[in-house]
Amino acid sequence: MLELKHVFKKYAVNSEYILNDINLKLDKGLISIEGTSGSGKSTLLNLIGLLDKPTKGIVSLDGKNLKKLKKKEIDYYHYKKIGFIFQNYNLIEYLTVYENITITHTSNDVDKILKDLNIYKLKNKKVNKLSGGEKGRVAIARVLVQDPDILLCDEPTGALDSKTGEVIMNILKKISKKKLVIMVTHNHDYSVKYADRIISIKDGRIVDDTKQIKKNSTEVKEKYTKVHFKINKLFKIIINNLINKWKRNVLTAIAFSIGLISLLLVLGIRNGFSISLDNYNKEYASNFPIYISPYTQDKQEELNDLLKEKEVRNDKVYSYQDKHVNKIDKEFVDYINIKNNLIKYNIYGYSIDSKTILTIPTNNIDDFYNNFNMLYGNIITNNYDVILVLDSSNNLNQNLLKQLNLKNDSYSYEELIGYKYKVNNNQYTISGIMKLKENNILQINSCILYKDTFNSTPNSIYLYPNNIDDKNELVKYIKEYKTEITFTDYSDTIKTASDFIIKAASIILISFSIISLIVSSFMIGIITYISVLERVHEIGLFKSLGISNSNIRRIFIIENIFIALLASIISIVITMLISYPINDLLFEYTSLNNILLLNTGIVFIIVIISIIVSVLGSFIPAFGISRLKIVDALKYE
Ligand code: ADP
Ligand code: MG
Repeated sequence: MLELKHVFKKYAVNSEYILNDINLKLDKGLISIEGTSGSGKSTLLNLIGLLDKPTKGIVSLDGKNLKKLKKKEIDYYHYKKIGFIFQNYNLIEYLTVYENITITHTSNDVDKILKDLNIYKLKNKKVNKLSGGEKGRVAIARVLVQDPDILLCDEPTGALDSKTGEVIMNILKKISKKKLVIMVTHNHDYSVKYADRIISIKDGRIVDDTKQIKKNSTEVKEKYTKVHFKINKLFKIIINNLINKWKRNVLTAIAFSIGLISLLLVLGIRNGFSISLDNYNKEYASNFPIYISPYTQDKQEELNDLLKEKEVRNDKVYSYQDKHVNKIDKEFVDYINIKNNLIKYNIYGYSIDSKTILTIPTNNIDDFYNNFNMLYGNIITNNYDVILVLDSSNNLNQNLLKQLNLKNDSYSYEELIGYKYKVNNNQYTISGIMKLKENNILQINSCILYKDTFNSTPNSIYLYPNNIDDKNELVKYIKEYKTEITFTDYSDTIKTASDFIIKAASIILISFSIISLIVSSFMIGIITYISVLERVHEIGLFKSLGISNSNIRRIFIIENIFIALLASIISIVITMLISYPINDLLFEYTSLNNILLLNTGIVFIIVIISIIVSVLGSFIPAFGISRLKIVDALKYE
């Protein structure tokens, strides 16, 4: 039993009432509502159909005031109790007849209903291929499957030829035997022929009400159940939309993937760069020496000392510690020699007449010479041969030359080779002149190289480990020595520098990627907003069928997740493709291989981030769906 008591409706605060004191009691049967265009028929139907609320007055169904229904209850009424046949039928064009009529409900009678309506053979046809009359019958089939108590039809025959119109009217008449069917029509003949009651409206008032039917009031308290909208129905809509709008979706994905590509580049470069530098350190930097002399200090400590600023007050006395002095003696040299297998070259520095000279290593001497270009003469062949090592501009320290009694500004190679001089009662001969190759790792300057025949302890020690593992072992070994030995680890210095570069680069690159993510998220938001606007009509239909706001939101969000996945795939493929030229280019400048390198972790991060960004981006526009009023949404074309 549907009852309207003193119902008023106006759309704007200061406008006139569109509906003016409507009082009605309706039970079963076919009710026809007539009136000129603009008289308020659709407005009345919308109030009854819970698509809109009255400004004043009460609309009640089986004694329940419909104004007091909660959102979920309204969804339930639309799902279960109230069905619509709209003038334009509001079918989802890209779904088939079967999919349309079973969008919210399923029934074992679907085939029977389709046969009764004579559209069984259209069952799997897409709705956009149907004629107007066929669409009308599909809309009726949908309502029959839904099986609501009240059926509201707004000009159901308006767009049909008279023959099809009669068919539809016959079906409605049949339905009205068991249900309440309220129909707005302009066709007075149909009203006369089929309606049990004709209500005429003029300027929002009931001006005529013929063929009363007997009252039959039974008030039943209705318990509502939550509407369960099956997830596979949702996916059907989503997949159809994705396919139907594939061009737009692919374009969106491409646009989205630009942001993702920039993030991939950042993560890929960070990954590849640190791997490259690690390899570089392993292969190359690890060969740099560990340098030990009485006064060598740990570089890091030295740096810390430099950074520490001490406040000096003029009324205080401060204590200070002596600088650490390494005790390099025979015991320590022997200690190191035990680990000779870890060391590629061992070069010792001695002080002769307070000048430092270096010795050629006892390990891998042939390989050692590969660090030099022999300019003239020969390598050391006996204990008293020496080699002059020049710097890049062929200079040699004047003090060193003075030790050889050579006091001129310059000498020709010929003059020097074979030159003999005495130091500590030993006579030495210059056998060769060499120059350090570029990019050598020895970390020594111009010097004079002797064979190690000195029976004293060295002044300083250069130890070149074989590789990174041996270096680490050697460092550990030195640290285990009974007294503290401080040393300079040149490779560590380089590693610290490269770590700093990675850190600095990461900060810059990560800021870029954050910007790109924000941009992507905005873009997804805008696109979702446009998509919501484009589909307002469809959203209105979903709502009128009792599909809840959260389910409609889910449609948009899941669609965006699919687009995000597509964008991830596009961006990963593109990044992998462009990584080849980028790596070639970067190799030219840095001599580092594969600076841009993706891995599964990065791919995983990108997929997750793209999903998060797409969901975040679609949140606000998707929530706009809740605010859409069904009547407005349905009017929207
Ligand atoms: P009918 O269906 O009888 O042709 P309607 O109920 O659609 O008439 O409309 C009645 C009046 O209310 C019309 O003047 C129309 O312009 C107005 N109207 C309908 N919907 C709205 C709305 N959402 N906002 C403002 N005015 C409206
Ligand atoms: Mg109308």
